[in-house]
Amino acid sequence: MVATEATTDPEVLVIGAGPGGYVAAIRAAQRGLDVTLVERDALGGVCLNRGCIPSKAYVTATDVAHDAATAEEMGIHADPVVDLAAMCDWKDGVVDRLTGGVEKLCKANGVSLVEGTASFVDGETVRVDDGDETETLTFDHCIVATGSRPLELPGFPFAADPVLDAAAALELSSVPDRLVVVGAGYIGMELSTVFAKLGTDVTVVEALDSVLPGYEDDVARVVRKRAESLGVDFHFGERATGWRDAADGGIVVTTESDDGTKSTHGADRVLVAVGRTPVTDTLDPENAGLEPTENGALETDERCETAVDGIYAVGDVAGEPMLAHVASAEGVVAAEAIAGEPAAFDAQAIPAAVFTDPEIATVGLTESEAEAEGFDPVVGEMPLRSSGRALTTGDTEGFVRVVASADGFLIGAQIVAPEASELIAEPTLGIEMGATLEDVAATIHTHPTLSEAVMEAAENALGQAIHTLNR
Ligand code: FAD
Ligand code: NAD
Repeated sequence: MVATEATTDPEVLVIGAGPGGYVAAIRAAQRGLDVTLVERDALGGVCLNRGCIPSKAYVTATDVAHDAATAEEMGIHADPVVDLAAMCDWKDGVVDRLTGGVEKLCKANGVSLVEGTASFVDGETVRVDDGDETETLTFDHCIVATGSRPLELPGFPFAADPVLDAAAALELSSVPDRLVVVGAGYIGMELSTVFAKLGTDVTVVEALDSVLPGYEDDVARVVRKRAESLGVDFHFGERATGWRDAADGGIVVTTESDDGTKSTHGADRVLVAVGRTPVTDTLDPENAGLEPTENGALETDERCETAVDGIYAVGDVAGEPMLAHVASAEGVVAAEAIAGEPAAFDAQAIPAAVFTDPEIATVGLTESEAEAEGFDPVVGEMPLRSSGRALTTGDTEGFVRVVASADGFLIGAQIVAPEASELIAEPTLGIEMGATLEDVAATIHTHPTLSEAVMEAAENALGQAIHTLNR
């Protein structure tokens, strides 16, 4: 990052240049405010440098190799050779383009960039330390966007060589023969799939009784089964307790179940992905009167403002859900609120996607959540095996489900399908705009596409599906 000259008393000081911070800074500058953005590491934050983008680059690249190697049914015979170091270089090039783009956008919008770690002196002043010098900045408004870091599990210090966090796993220059993954959440499932497709023997240890706890059983089941078919070996109800060197030159990961049963799993490396925790310890938040919650997050109201007047918090540092698009949406709200606009964060239609094989994407309420909230929900489903386009992609496991209120308003959707992360945009917009099942069913969808399954699911909920039997 190249620092441009900062004003010493910006109207808006943004701390952290991830998708929460840089978006907030640009929007505030677009509103005519004088903005300084401070970043201690790299523009783009975890998302661009060590998270969303690098992991999705690997998801795509390993899909290409795996799809080519397994397309004999389509008459394609190939035996791809994967050069992980070259794949890593390609991924780094993608990251560089994007982070360079963030720098250009900030400059083009008049955002002043400052390198260093910002910490509060008081409720209107920060000190920025770049390792050589310190600079003091005063602000009228501050947006804290300092993100999160991986939780370190007792017994698995990230400093130990065989122990990897997601960032280190995405920097490996050779494919490990055996990998134990601790945690079958977002990162565990995405990266297990990546390494299984690279030919690694993957063992997943999960404390709870299924993959992706929090997702509905039939949603998670499709992904678990596909992962198992790729050779991933799941051990549910096991809590990782530690690791030691093994006689074969590798390591042994030890686990314990709730009834006290102890197990061991051999590996060369262990990836620990058991959640993330907000970053506030870089900030001296107490100097500004900020009190992080027990989980370390900065609580905010619907305008993303903390309990301290004029100090806002957006993204992972403001707690769950820790997703890049939520960080950006909150960044926009905070910037517009500071600019005096009636902005507020609306949690009604927040999509989430897991980039597994197949992908999972959800938005709004599930059927049981809708029931718990007092709706009498109407549900429609389209299995992928009835979709012409799904058959032509060779991926027929999965479904599109829509959930509507009794009077037909769309309130949720769950999709397990290739490109589910793209397909979820339609129901998300539908919920946002107050669409009904009739609106979705009457919308002409291109044929043959996977998006027709969204229309068919809505038709199914109305008892009018053509390509599936109605409920
Ligand atoms: P961050 O991106 O963490 O940025 C915070 C920035 O603040 C950092 O650059 C940090 O250096 C800086 N900072 C911290 N303290 C200071 C300080 N005192 N002074 C100056 N700078 C400071 N989310 C999705 O939506 N989709 C995905 O596909 C996805 N994939 C992921 C894959 C992985 C492997 C990981 C780890 C995460 C993934 N996420 C994904 C989550 C996503 O990366 C985060 O939700 C997102 O980055 C949060 O953005 P943020 O701006 O709040 O914080
Ligand atoms: P996670 O919360 O998604 O999953 C952690 C898993 O680890 C849980 O299933 C939990 O039961 C398990 N676990 C906890 N302690 C354990 C132990 N001792 N032994 C075995 N299992 C244990 O966390 P994550 O996968 O680290 O991801 C962190 C966050 O990053 C996510 O919650 C999400 O917000 C974000 N993320 C999002 C995406 C995406 O949007 N596609 C991708 C990656 C990460």
